[in-house]
Amino acid sequence: MRGLTGKVAIVTGAAGGIGAATARRLAEEGARVVAVDLDEERLRKVAESLPTEGHWVRADVSDENDVAAYVGAAVERFGRVDLHHLNAGIPGSFATLPALTVAEFDKVMAVNVRGVFLGVRAAFRQYEAQGSPGNIVLTGSIGSLRGSADLLAYQTSKHAVLGILKGAAMYGGPLGVRVNAVAPGIVPTDLFAATPDVAGGKDDMSRRASSTPLRRAGTGDDVAGVVAFLLSDDAAYMTGEVVSVDGGASIVSTVRP
Ligand code: NAD
Repeated sequence: MRGLTGKVAIVTGAAGGIGAATARRLAEEGARVVAVDLDEERLRKVAESLPTEGHWVRADVSDENDVAAYVGAAVERFGRVDLHHLNAGIPGSFATLPALTVAEFDKVMAVNVRGVFLGVRAAFRQYEAQGSPGNIVLTGSIGSLRGSADLLAYQTSKHAVLGILKGAAMYGGPLGVRVNAVAPGIVPTDLFAATPDVAGGKDDMSRRASSTPLRRAGTGDDVAGVVAFLLSDDAAYMTGEVVSVDGGASIVSTVRP
């Protein structure tokens, strides 16, 4: 992909399934990656396994000071930041609406919405400080587009990610900053394994995957390839876009004609 070699990329949630795959893919494309996550042990392993010079920073994306610190650490190490994949996210509670507590709702919003807002704001501040624009990709979800009865906080947060996407793309366009999002479907990471039906053994990947047009679950690499494309110069005329990476799940009608 064009324009990734030598770039400095921050990936949040880089200890997890999709983030680790993106960190690896960007490094394979020649970028230097700063991996950010709460999980220090897995983070270190990811950063140390990258084929290009990498760096890792333990940070909570919902914390304003931590966000400034991970950008500062990237600049200290590599002198600049060009690319951001703001990907860290949590599923939160699977309580049905009447049982969903304010604390759970706020916890999901803090990571999935405030964390993305802080990451986008820090990216723009850094691009301005260094005097050159970069590109940003956010991780939405099929839950950015659809509803389900027991994931209200998560889905609300992922819809909000698209609000940040549109505002940031409008602001960034004239500055040469592109902002896009991926919307993954079923990817068997820790996050997906936490869903009650999967964790409780009532559901498995094959049943869900068989209802998608491509008849299989996605992988971190499936998502990472699209993230890398959106961050690359091959996507130079794309901004404000949400790209579904879900095996076609989002086009399936649940209402038969
Ligand atoms: P994952 O659980 O494997 O990875 C998420 C990572 O984010 C973890 O390593 C976790 O430690 C980190 N994290 C959580 N809270 C954090 C915080 N406050 N600060 C820093 N790091 C934090 O899950 P994943 O599937 O790789 O999820 C990545 C993104 O993809 C999430 O935004 C998720 O909502 C989205 N997504 C996943 C799926 C799926 O099926 N797996 C589907 C749609 C969207």
